[in-house]
Amino acid sequence: MNFNEEIQLLMKEWEMENIVLPEIFVEKNIMEQIPAYLTKNDFKNVVLAVDDNTWQATGDRLATLLTDGGIEVKVVRLHETEHQQVIADEKTLVQLLIETEQNTDLIIAVGSGTIHDIVRFAGFKMNIPFLSVPTAASVDGFTSKGAPLILKGVKQTIQTASPIAVFADLKVLTEAPPELTAAGFGDILGKYTSLLDWKISDWVAEEPYNERAASLTKQSLEQCMENVDKIARHDEAGVEVLIRALIESGIVMLVLDFSRPASGGEHHLSHYWEMDMLDKNLKQHLHGAKVGVTTTIIIDVYKQFANQWQLNELDPKYKQNIEKHWSKIVEEINNLPSPEILQETLRKLGGPDTPQALRITKELVQESLNNAQHLRDRCTGLLLINLHKKDDIPYPIGELSLK
Ligand SMILES: [Zn+2]
Repeated sequence: MNFNEEIQLLMKEWEMENIVLPEIFVEKNIMEQIPAYLTKNDFKNVVLAVDDNTWQATGDRLATLLTDGGIEVKVVRLHETEHQQVIADEKTLVQLLIETEQNTDLIIAVGSGTIHDIVRFAGFKMNIPFLSVPTAASVDGFTSKGAPLILKGVKQTIQTASPIAVFADLKVLTEAPPELTAAGFGDILGKYTSLLDWKISDWVAEEPYNERAASLTKQSLEQCMENVDKIARHDEAGVEVLIRALIESGIVMLVLDFSRPASGGEHHLSHYWEMDMLDKNLKQHLHGAKVGVTTTIIIDVYKQFANQWQLNELDPKYKQNIEKHWSKIVEEINNLPSPEILQETLRKLGGPDTPQALRITKELVQESLNNAQHLRDRCTGLLLINLHKKDDIPYPIGELSLK
């Protein structure tokens, strides 16, 4: 069964048959087809949401293509911080709301994850659909509805809208800086622990779970792991594998209407670091670059605890289910690849492999391991470990170190 057939079945199982899936176009030079697509769908006045980088890389050319195609284009250059970064916070959201004219019938997100999240939210609030033009295979959120925003300095994910279509131009994606492709791979690696955390939440906290969604997300992960060398070359064939995996993972989240299969303890650690850096007004790291590293840490922590955890101190709320499923939990944890293997894979991609490579201190890692589970009301291995440990989770916990 191919992905689309599986998704149709998932929509039935999850009672989401009314959901409209985005049209997906992954091809070299597919951007040139956007004007015809807009004309066919009767879009006449569009806003292009860009930042300085994506304007230079892609936006400028797309604006010309659209204008030549008889479409009215307004460019909104999103506010950048002193670190030349766009942040999905109140200031930038309001900027897009203000600069989008009343007669706008479509917003086009030209960029990576953050620009998509800003557009997704603003479009949803103004009831204007949006089109996705990823400029890098850097994140798995293009096709989902969740917009992770920084509101009053705190990271929160709000369910908004998915794009009507994605135009993933392989020419654009292969020309993206290699660290962005490495970050996309890091976001994919996170599925090792997010899928396990989702399973644990089903066993222990009886949270909603779907086997088909989990196995589709696992396929995205496996396809990337089987093609590591190809992806590491950042060429068309490799980038295509990665962008398809990222898009498909996003579609699974879209159908479920939550991000569980692709976001567990590793994302909570990453969000914790992100908020700390915002607090200190430091330049932000790429989302997937952090997730790649936090995945190695979470795996290290889980593997240690699977073999050392004292089962006689269980919280009464979870005691029965933990005891019932304990051997399966341990087995799943033992089946995870070692953190060292994942670090090696990250290095192959040219991405950071340790907190140190991200200039994250040992103290912050330690603090996040003890507190990040409070960021979301979700059952994860990290939450259970924190509930049942006697002392703070030590870091480095296993063989991983900051050396
Ligand atoms: Zn992610």
